[in-house]
Amino acid sequence: MSQEKPVQQPGCGDEPPGALLDVDEAIKQIEANLPLIHGSESLSVRHSLGRTLAADVLSTINVPAHVNSAMDGYALNGDDLPLQKKSDLQVVGTSWAGRPFTGSIAPGQCVRIMTGAVMPAGTDTVIMQEQVETHGEIIRIGHGHNRGQNVRQAGEDLSIGQVAVAEGKKIMPAELGLFASLGTTEVKVRRKLRVAFFSTGDELRSVGEPLAEGDLYDSNRYTLFGSLTRLGVELIDMGIIRDHPDAIREAFTNASSCSDVVITTGGVSVGEADFVKQTLQELGEIAFWKLAIRPGRPLAFGKLGNAAFFGLPGNPVAVMVTFYEFVQPALRYMMGQSVTRCARFQVPCVSTLRKRPGRTEYQRGVLQTDNTGQLVVARTGGQGSGILSSMSQANCFIVLRTDRGSVEAGEMVEVEPFEGLV
Ligand code: AMP
Ligand code: MG
Repeated sequence: MSQEKPVQQPGCGDEPPGALLDVDEAIKQIEANLPLIHGSESLSVRHSLGRTLAADVLSTINVPAHVNSAMDGYALNGDDLPLQKKSDLQVVGTSWAGRPFTGSIAPGQCVRIMTGAVMPAGTDTVIMQEQVETHGEIIRIGHGHNRGQNVRQAGEDLSIGQVAVAEGKKIMPAELGLFASLGTTEVKVRRKLRVAFFSTGDELRSVGEPLAEGDLYDSNRYTLFGSLTRLGVELIDMGIIRDHPDAIREAFTNASSCSDVVITTGGVSVGEADFVKQTLQELGEIAFWKLAIRPGRPLAFGKLGNAAFFGLPGNPVAVMVTFYEFVQPALRYMMGQSVTRCARFQVPCVSTLRKRPGRTEYQRGVLQTDNTGQLVVARTGGQGSGILSSMSQANCFIVLRTDRGSVEAGEMVEVEPFEGLV
């Protein structure tokens, strides 16, 4: 990690080109400097939801275990399929899911079969029930069917010895189902990442306290609590720390002694009372300081003892932007998760957006379908970095890259939705 020289810059206004660190470069630096956490535990399948798999789960059985029918219909031998016209076959029994037909069939015979039922010996093809004429014990089938149709092969989902779920996968509902389909009762997951966080600012009050003039309630610890809880880490909420070097120093020392990651908000600008950067330089290592993004330009990343350190800005929207764009992928990397970046795609923007080239902007948008059924995005109202209600109204970021200027209504823009499906 490179030691950064103290830079005196004004707290707001535009930076000369080159003074700000590009987003992609920042992500590279974060990833290059992060340690992976060690340690794992075994959990029952249901308790593993949301955790990171610590070892490959191999299939010990074939799934499905037997060749079975994909349809309700009639199982027969492909030799009996008529090449032209129609054939009559005699129904000699029924194969139910969980209650197989144990007899045998001769040429010209077939078995009534239900979805999921084991294919009887001597059969390899299923005709859907809707495609036959029934006359008592006789069915009549037409031509145009193919041998092997409507049959699921043993092991076609997973075969014995195959990696069913690879290490590093975040365990989601599909994985719970897969584990269950293998008869697995317990899985090995990585231990939870321990994250300590606190807010800095003499003006901050906790909910329940009265507000004096100039005070405001600490909302950052609540958005961080929510974001970190959803990420599945162990939280250490250290409250509000005063803007005093001794208080910050003490909090840094306490936080780093009990966590893998320390996250602070506020105190990273260059105001008189901004001691976070200074303290990080004194007690740890600092990797970079100013990002070419809006909102969220001042962001400190570094190391505090063995803990990774993220000093986020104070403004509530900037906290959320920097958390989702930088901290969350970093934490997922440390948790050992195979990190895939969130989906982004282009849609027409129905609002005019003001922007100057030079920084990547994360404006707040509402993704919706217009009256022709097309997906479009509109911006939420005020885009100030203190307007937290814009995050509540929005359902996506509108990501405007560094070089982009203002956007006219109708132009295509890149969006990043807040919610995934599963
Ligand atoms: P700072 O970076 O400490 O100068 O803070 C920038 C702005 O964010 C100031 O207006 C602060 O009052 C505000 N702010 C800082 N921390 C919080 C917080 N935890 N909750 C709400 N607003 C905050
Ligand atoms: Mg402050």
